[in-house]
Amino acid sequence: LLYNQVQDLKGTIRVYCRVRPFLSSQSNMKSTVDYIGENGNIMIVNPQKQGKEGRRVFTFNKVFGTNVTQQQIYADTQPLIRSVLDGYNVCIFAYGQTGSGKTYTMSGPDLTTTESWGVNYRALHDLFSISKERMDAIEYEVGVQMIEIYNEQLNGLNVPDASLVPVKCTQDVLELMKLGQRNRAVGATALNERSSRSHSIITVHVQGKELVSGSTLKGCLHLVDLAGSERVDKSEAVGERLKEAQHINRSLSALGDVIYALAQKSSHVPYRNSKLTQVLQDSLGGHAKTLMFVHINPEVNAVGETISTLKFAERVS
Ligand code: ADP
Ligand code: MG
Repeated sequence: LLYNQVQDLKGTIRVYCRVRPFLSSQSNMKSTVDYIGENGNIMIVNPQKQGKEGRRVFTFNKVFGTNVTQQQIYADTQPLIRSVLDGYNVCIFAYGQTGSGKTYTMSGPDLTTTESWGVNYRALHDLFSISKERMDAIEYEVGVQMIEIYNEQLNGLNVPDASLVPVKCTQDVLELMKLGQRNRAVGATALNERSSRSHSIITVHVQGKELVSGSTLKGCLHLVDLAGSERVDKSEAVGERLKEAQHINRSLSALGDVIYALAQKSSHVPYRNSKLTQVLQDSLGGHAKTLMFVHINPEVNAVGETISTLKFAERVS
């Protein structure tokens, strides 16, 4: 069954929606999420609009409510991770406005407790444990690369030239990611400020050699924590802020256009329109598999961004 599920995912784009819970200081706030249905439905209520206009239903492959754990999120991601070891290219994206939970899903809030680990660490942990299971038949080599795209410029995070670092176990990866997080802070006074305006990409290259036949396979996994999708008010943003906002807008719409073109099976896929889609070109389309986590913040004052996030997701799914 698992194998069939993985086959089904080939060349397709899956969209999962995750709703961030209210933070502890917001316990009595009203949510814009009216209900989450069984079949991937979610209804958003916009209290600023009356009647029918104020209610909209969106449908995705899955919708995760506020009580869903990191473990449950990963359980629905795992088949894709396995397929990297079979030689597929996989892209996993976290999309949403700043503060909606992208980094929570991908990295998790705390590296030191395994229950809170996000998709990144769980995926790498799995890659190592599955490759160990197959050790008698296939010899795998794993390398990790961490980059950031800021203002259409590509920076390496783990090593100055963004080269591939070979890793042997989950601990190696944790060390590398901690280093990457530290380097991401260098030169940025407020880490969150900067990180919400850059795309961060962890790329895991896997190479396997079948011991009997000697034949080789290559798979690749991209774990992408995207820049915040919020629209910046043009009348407010000036200078650097405006430039950043324009770069983010352009690259997120370029990503949307690429995924939309792929979903439509269009003959022209506009990869060249942004650094992000250029970097990921080999892993978007063809036999590659794509999973987009869209995140929403349930607060009433975020409802405009929530609806535009869900419209973006609806278009690419
Ligand atoms: P983003 O990366 O989209 O800007 P974060 O992942 O930093 O957002 O999340 C914003 C805040 O909400 C953080 O304090 C984070 O710990 C918290 N948070 C996000 N998602 C969840 C969740 N599913 N459960 C509990 N807290 C969450
Ligand atoms: Mg973040």
